[in-house]
Order: sequence, then C-alpha cells, then structure tokens
Amino acid sequence: MKLPICSFDAKTGVLCPKCEEKLAKGIISKTDVEVSMKLVKLASDHPSLDKITLKRAIDLGDAMVLVLGSGDLARLREERGLYSALRKTLGKRVWAVEEDASDRRMLEDLVYPAKIASMNIIWLPDGTKLTKAVIPGRRTERFPVDLDQVERIFKVVKGVDLKIEFERT
Ligand SMILES: [Zn+2]
Repeated sequence: MKLPICSFDAKTGVLCPKCEEKLAKGIISKTDVEVSMKLVKLASDHPSLDKITLKRAIDLGDAMVLVLGSGDLARLREERGLYSALRKTLGKRVWAVEEDASDRRMLEDLVYPAKIASMNIIWLPDGTKLTKAVIPGRRTERFPVDLDQVERIFKVVKGVDLKIEFERT
C-alpha cells in the first residue's frame, strides 16, 4: 500500500523525522497519518488494500473520504465486505474517490449505482460558477445516496460547488 507517510512509520505507529516535518509543514494532515496507520493494520486481514494508493484522507466529521490512486476503486470493490471493514475501522461512513478522476467520473463513482443524466457548469450573475448535475427520474424514499454529502465531498476534494437535482420533482 502506498501512503502519505512511510509504510514503516504506519506499521510502527511512530513518524520518522521526514514525515514529522511534512506534518509540521502541513504537507500531510493528522488525518492522513491516523488513517494510514489504521489502514496498514486492516491490510493484514484484507490484502486488497495492499494494492491501493492512499493520496490523502479527509475527515468530514460524520464521514471519511479516502482519496485514492487511479484504478483503486475497482480494487476496493473486488473484495466483498471491505467497505464495511473500512467503516468499522475508521468509525464512520467511508467514501472513496480517485484523485485524477474527472468531475463527471467522480460524481458517477459517488452516486453509484444511481446514474447521472447531465452535468453542466452554470455561471452565476456574480461571476462564480456552479456545477449542476441531474439524476434521471424522481427522488424516491429509497434513494440510497446521501447527496448533501456528495456535494460536500466535491467541495473539499475538487473545490467545485456542486448542486445535484432530480430530473423530476
Ligand atoms: Zn516517514
């Protein structure tokens, strides 16, 4: 597993001077360090984790976002039960995204298995832009994805103001 800190540090639970400095300079966060250490422990029971790259981890309070390397989502989905093991280890809802995914790809990954009908940038009168995404059909009681959280993830990971709506109300 590739981590924001040395794997040796993650295994021993102690940061080397180089990683300490990165943390002090804000190149990596406390969350990156904590999540790296937890993932290394979890990887002993879940070898699929060994193949992934954790770029950074973002704590949203009630959820954790794992920003991963290219192709890692497929690796995570390969193993049944891995998401629930992650949720248990990290103590909150876990979302995973790939760092280099386009806006559209990232959104599709986050709302999966729901689909995206369209995604457009709208310029507001004050010169700021808003990305509007539309999900086909109408929102039902059973809609499985927390869209407010998806919008927050877009803001923190991509710096994009996203508004998700349903095609029909
Ligand atoms: Zn280190």
